[in-house]
Amino acid sequence: MIVEVAVLAGVRSPRGTFSYLAPDGDVPPAGSLVRVPFGPRAALGVVLGNGEPSPAMKSIGHLVHPTPVLYSHQILLARWLAAEYRCALADALRAMLPPALVAAAGTRGLRTPRGERSQAQFAITPEGRAALDGSAIRLGAKQRQALVLLAAGARTESELREVGGDPSAAARLARRGLALASRSLVRRVPLEFGVDDAAAPPEVLSQAQRPAIDAITAALGRHEDFLLHGVTASGKTEVYLRVAAEALAQGLGVIVLVPEIALAPQTLGRFVSRFGERVAILHSALSAGERYDEWRRVLDGAADVVVGSRSALFAPLSRPGLIVLDEEHESTYKQESDPRYDTLAAARELARLAGAVVIAGSATPRVATFFQAKQGRMHLVELPERVGERVVPTVEVVDLRAELRAGNRSIFSRRLRTLLAETMKRGEQAMLFLNRRGYATVVLCRSCGFVVQCPRCDVPFAWHSPGKLLCHRCGLSGAEPQTCPRCGSAQIRYLGSGTQRVEDEVRKLVGDVPIVRLDRDAVRRAGSHVRLFEEMRSGRARVIVGTQMIAKGFDLPGVTLVGVVSADTMLHLPDFAAAERTFALLTQVLGRSGRGAGGGRGVIQTYVPEHYAIRAAARQDYAFFAGAELAERKRFGYPPYGRLVLLQTSAKREETVRRRATELVAKLGPRAGEGEEVLGPAPAFAAKVADSYRWQVVLRGPDPTHLLDAVGDEWTIDVDPASLLG
Ligand code: ADP
Ligand code: ZN
Ligand code: ZN
Repeated sequence: MIVEVAVLAGVRSPRGTFSYLAPDGDVPPAGSLVRVPFGPRAALGVVLGNGEPSPAMKSIGHLVHPTPVLYSHQILLARWLAAEYRCALADALRAMLPPALVAAAGTRGLRTPRGERSQAQFAITPEGRAALDGSAIRLGAKQRQALVLLAAGARTESELREVGGDPSAAARLARRGLALASRSLVRRVPLEFGVDDAAAPPEVLSQAQRPAIDAITAALGRHEDFLLHGVTASGKTEVYLRVAAEALAQGLGVIVLVPEIALAPQTLGRFVSRFGERVAILHSALSAGERYDEWRRVLDGAADVVVGSRSALFAPLSRPGLIVLDEEHESTYKQESDPRYDTLAAARELARLAGAVVIAGSATPRVATFFQAKQGRMHLVELPERVGERVVPTVEVVDLRAELRAGNRSIFSRRLRTLLAETMKRGEQAMLFLNRRGYATVVLCRSCGFVVQCPRCDVPFAWHSPGKLLCHRCGLSGAEPQTCPRCGSAQIRYLGSGTQRVEDEVRKLVGDVPIVRLDRDAVRRAGSHVRLFEEMRSGRARVIVGTQMIAKGFDLPGVTLVGVVSADTMLHLPDFAAAERTFALLTQVLGRSGRGAGGGRGVIQTYVPEHYAIRAAARQDYAFFAGAELAERKRFGYPPYGRLVLLQTSAKREETVRRRATELVAKLGPRAGEGEEVLGPAPAFAAKVADSYRWQVVLRGPDPTHLLDAVGDEWTIDVDPASLLG
């Protein structure tokens, strides 16, 4: 027999698949993990099915695990990913397996997770089959009987016993090399199931939640896609939980994706308290070992609710019936290395293959997703109001130009200062948002205008603390000059503000109240995100200053004021999605305000109060934003009215990338069809990173992907990029 195998080798796996010989009568089923000879070495491979004869075929090596590690719907999904996002099938398959497994799956097979109860599992080996076929190997009665049972398929200890086999005889077979022994998890009864009072489900559903849950539940068991558009605090999570419970009752598995698990402790907590040990958590912040353990619990059927970041989509559920993407607009749903997939698109494909329901939830869905719903390609389900008596906050827009004219040069407008003081006086919490960490963004010589730059990226260093400069592009730190390196002047100044500076300024304003700063620096230093979260939730922290880390997922009833210190940083970036990301971020940040009984307020400080993204965010008016944004997109042929492909290349010498890019444009230009454009070549937004120069070419049109056949390996190909700023 000949089998087709995808070989996982190297940083980028080979594009094609390979044919290997497998012994007749002992062909590993599709999805099996095997060792195969590959060039001078052995490599890990995934069996795909029957293969075509090819010259000089080698024999397949041994099985790494008795049962397949990928289901057929997953292999089909991998094929789709490889074709859609232009990568090797092996790399798409690799993305579906825990890294620890790929790295360590040696000759001893897969290990069982630590601390789990497990039982032995056996499968027959080729030698075992030969023994059955009456070779010279002598078998006792019990061993022969066990071998016959195993010849019909892999079995666990308890399965063997059920059909009258003897597990200890199977163990002896394993010692003789006639069977492969491994361990499989014993599923435990979920103890915590519904016992946690604190997170008990609400008894009464809101007026909009009930029909939403009914509509989605009715679709379980077949492929349907839903966009759950619900304002912040409208109770979307409760909808996910109820539909998930119904899916589980029908014997279907559930996948819940969150943008970044560290930022969604509450969502995760709600799932764990509702579904207990059936929940497996899969995300990249786990250690490799932990991630492997959780994956293994899913593979063995011990967990059938998977909560995690985007790659949790690939958890080995035998029958996925519900896939939830919470906060579908988040940019973390686009993978930034091969396969560069859009998680919603991949989820919909998996759902099509497996007959599952998809829920994409957001208060601010991407307009491209909203457009699909408007066109009837997804069902639109809306939760237009916050649950209970809570109302969306009242938001004021402050024109910073007017502040400047009135002589206010501080980073806080007069209005924000007043509201902040009032909030403190009432004993409530305030949040201040700024999308830049560090203290100052530019260190500049006042005498000659010299700006201290990262030597590797040619962008200004940010000032973090006395003496400490940091490049936000490559992470290099630099020493702060005492005098100007160019003219020797001592007049060094700091321009632009980051979260650290806001924290300082708040301290001057509000005096002696506890302040928590939440950004990447603070989280890294404090080491514990959970501790900072506790400070906020308990109400001990009175002012919370942060980057977009504070925008997401927090449900803090004590926060009654949210101030956006600067709304404009992202708005002016040269990118088709800049307005969309600004609107989403502002809406989410402002949505943190007034989740308690007393209602809430918000302030947006901006230099462009007339911009539709700012106006829409202030009114928390998604429909208005989507209308304006879709009109803009249509004008320029951006998604959803056209498709984009971002091509980037990098090299140490600038001429190399310039020449490459120029040649590519010359090659693709003539091949472009009606309505297709080849834009560029141009330096990438991050034109130099860590001593490498980067150039890009953008393809735009109804479907420009056919042009990609002519693009060489020195280019990274990003189909449907989330942004053009890479
Ligand atoms: P969203 O995800 O839509 O922003 P959440 O799911 O965080 O909103 O819900 C906001 C708050 O409302 C949470 O504290 C949640 O427990 C609560 N909640 C959800 N549904 C109900 C309900 N039917 N009755 C009372 N409280 C609810
Ligand atoms: Zn100078
Ligand atoms: Zn740098």
